[in-house]
Amino acid sequence: MYDNKLRIAIQKSGRLSKDSRRLLYNCGIKINFQKNKLISFSENMPIDVMCVRDDDIPGLVIDGIVDLGIVGRNVLEEEVLKRKFKSEKISFKILKHLDFGICRLSIGIPAEKKYHDINCLNGLRIATSYPYILKKYFNNKNVSFKICKLNGSVEVAIRAGLADAIFDLVSTGEALVSNGLKEVKVIHNSSACIIHNKNNFSDFKKNIIETFISRINGTIKARESKYIMLHISSNKVDNVVKLFIDSEKPTISKLLGRKNMVVMHIVSRESIFWETMEKLKNLGARSILVLPIEKMLE
Ligand code: ATP
Ligand code: ZN
Repeated sequence: MYDNKLRIAIQKSGRLSKDSRRLLYNCGIKINFQKNKLISFSENMPIDVMCVRDDDIPGLVIDGIVDLGIVGRNVLEEEVLKRKFKSEKISFKILKHLDFGICRLSIGIPAEKKYHDINCLNGLRIATSYPYILKKYFNNKNVSFKICKLNGSVEVAIRAGLADAIFDLVSTGEALVSNGLKEVKVIHNSSACIIHNKNNFSDFKKNIIETFISRINGTIKARESKYIMLHISSNKVDNVVKLFIDSEKPTISKLLGRKNMVVMHIVSRESIFWETMEKLKNLGARSILVLPIEKMLE
């Protein structure tokens, strides 16, 4: 592997690709993405991005073909279990959990069928693209079942007579309902994460990875935080501070021409809801501004 460039694998096209590209962009990594090219280069950092199918990402990281990968935990877990089953050596680490790609792996059965607990599925044929996760769960519960491995269109397997139940990705559950199914058991919760091989990286690569992760943390923190400005009577400052216990100490400055009034600047660690705004107003705060923060480095 090249030692003068960091190589990151992301999904080429699908549900993780837009967010993965956005993450790189928000971290200041400019990539000149070329259609149908396996590898795209960064214009401003020593980073190459490999665009592949999401199923290939865990293997590329574990085998050391790329340094980092952005992938769903569902796909990662399946690949890890598959390799463990084959007694292969696995070396990887989750560097960071991300706030996109949120979904779950659930069992679905026909809406009209009764369900009490997992034992109701004993002996059934279950269609899935995730046989190893399913197997691990059912083996732990001592429930027997037959696997019908499908790489796509799992939701129609029951109607096609291939299976009695399905084990598939769910986000809102709408797809299940529109196929006449109901979700009866969540088995795995997933979101995207950044993984890396546990190889000893050169100091050069370590540095880029640290910068990348610190920028991701900054972007996430900034997205969750808000900058608040308001005018308030100086004897109410303590009451306002109490409303923002998780925040850092506010900055307070004088308000020109208003003797007993001050301006407060607060960086809140969480989203500001209307209830907080109303409490501020009831304390006598005026000119309340809540602003988004673009970047944050601490
Ligand atoms: P590929 O061609 O890369 O193999 P795919 O068809 O297997 O793509 P997608 O449907 O694009 O995969 O889903 C990719 C990943 O996105 C899933 O493995 C999961 O981690 C996550 N995901 C799935 N459904 C959703 C959803 N509704 N919302 C957000 N993330 C999802
Ligand atoms: Zn896939």
